[in-house]
Amino acid sequence: MPETPQEVLKLIKDNNIQIIDLKFIDMPGIWQHCSFYYDQIDESSFSDGVPFDGSSIRGWKAINESDMSMVPDPTTAWIDPFFAEPTLSMICSIKEPRTGEWYSRDPRSIAAKAVDYLRSTGLGDTAFFGPEAEFFVFDDVRFDQAENKSYYYVDSVEGRWNSGKEEAGGNLGYKPRYKEGYFPVPPTDTIQDMRTEMLLTMGKCGVPIEKHHHEVATGGQNELGIRFDTLIKSADNLMIYKYVIKNVAKKYGKTVTFMPKPLFNDNGSGMHTHQSIWNNGQPLFWGDGYANLSKMALNYIGGLLRHAPALLALTNPTTNSYKRLVPGFEAPVNLAYSQGNRSASIRIPLSGTNPKAKRLEFRCPDATCNPYLAFAAMLCAGIDGIKNEIDPGEPLDVDIYDLSPEELSKVPSTPGSLEAALENLEKDHSFLTDSGVFTEDFIENWIEYKLDNEVNPMRLRPHPYEFALYYDV
Ligand code: GLU
Ligand code: MG
Ligand code: MG
Repeated sequence: MPETPQEVLKLIKDNNIQIIDLKFIDMPGIWQHCSFYYDQIDESSFSDGVPFDGSSIRGWKAINESDMSMVPDPTTAWIDPFFAEPTLSMICSIKEPRTGEWYSRDPRSIAAKAVDYLRSTGLGDTAFFGPEAEFFVFDDVRFDQAENKSYYYVDSVEGRWNSGKEEAGGNLGYKPRYKEGYFPVPPTDTIQDMRTEMLLTMGKCGVPIEKHHHEVATGGQNELGIRFDTLIKSADNLMIYKYVIKNVAKKYGKTVTFMPKPLFNDNGSGMHTHQSIWNNGQPLFWGDGYANLSKMALNYIGGLLRHAPALLALTNPTTNSYKRLVPGFEAPVNLAYSQGNRSASIRIPLSGTNPKAKRLEFRCPDATCNPYLAFAAMLCAGIDGIKNEIDPGEPLDVDIYDLSPEELSKVPSTPGSLEAALENLEKDHSFLTDSGVFTEDFIENWIEYKLDNEVNPMRLRPHPYEFALYYDV
């Protein structure tokens, strides 16, 4: 992989690249792109960037101050496999051309500030993140975007996907039962070849690949494993992950969703995120506390748990996110930690005696988050925990779903809705803003954007299930 602008320019020449595709992440978390004939990119593009209209990007600039620059990161260059002509892709951060400053609402620049903030505290020099984004492969989906009408893909009282053949080729006799998709061999698993192509393709795009498998939900839920990496690299890898998965599925005539809860009454899709802090190549989460965790790791957990009610506004930022966070589907509902316990929102994976493998898994996030914002916010919460020596309390080594109502009442819960999470964020965000990683403007804009574009529009629309409940009243 190239490291410098000069190496990228050489790669372009050596591979006869015709088109350079610059990609950047918008605020809600989707890649945007613009393509250039190869001679339009030179060394200055890597410092000054190339101009675009920021006012047309969701949640960004007003029309009267719309000029922005996208600045490609040379270390992200890869040959994009989804275009007919030789095309080199690079991931960009966003600059304000007038001041030359990184844009305060650019998620990738916010992530860079979080990395700098960790270093400035002297606590460690590197934070590692390992996201596990689950997704569904469906035959198709139908909703009327133009009219913004109710969904058409749910038809019954059950609220189930109605095609009955989410996977290729029918053969419904071998369809996994609800919650039994983890993980019988073919013919029950019909997505093997597609997942293999997804995994190998992302490997060719520079993502360190590990494994793939069908997930727990009935036909169509999957997970591909990629190696953990540093904060920004991991967020970049996750964007390539989603891009490759969606585009390979399209080649097979299928469609993919990372929506956390597309199917009622079956497992949803999470994005558990493994995390740890290191210094000078040494892991700092290994120690002699509970589950071989260091005091630093326990305080990091304390920070995540204390700020989770607000943090989830960034790690679980859609109205659909909260349909996943319900009991009985391996998704966390209670804010507690435990070793090896999948019903706790923080799990300490059993990782043997190797200090380098010691990490925690925060199970709340889902892949509708913007990974740059989510990772930056989790790191800020963890650092707050370490700096203020926040005690995470006692671990909860029981199946939390089986606790009595009285026992359960002592364990705090995840928020019940996006609206509740946004209200919490309004009240509790100094752990994000005091360090300057997130600005007050960003937080205010995020809350307003989410209320105006997601919470309120959902509230205003009749839901299909309301027809089942009330039509005949
Ligand atoms: N799908 C589950 C979730 O919503 C997680 C299953 C697993 O442990 O991988 O978090
Ligand atoms: Mg999983
Ligand atoms: Mg996991």
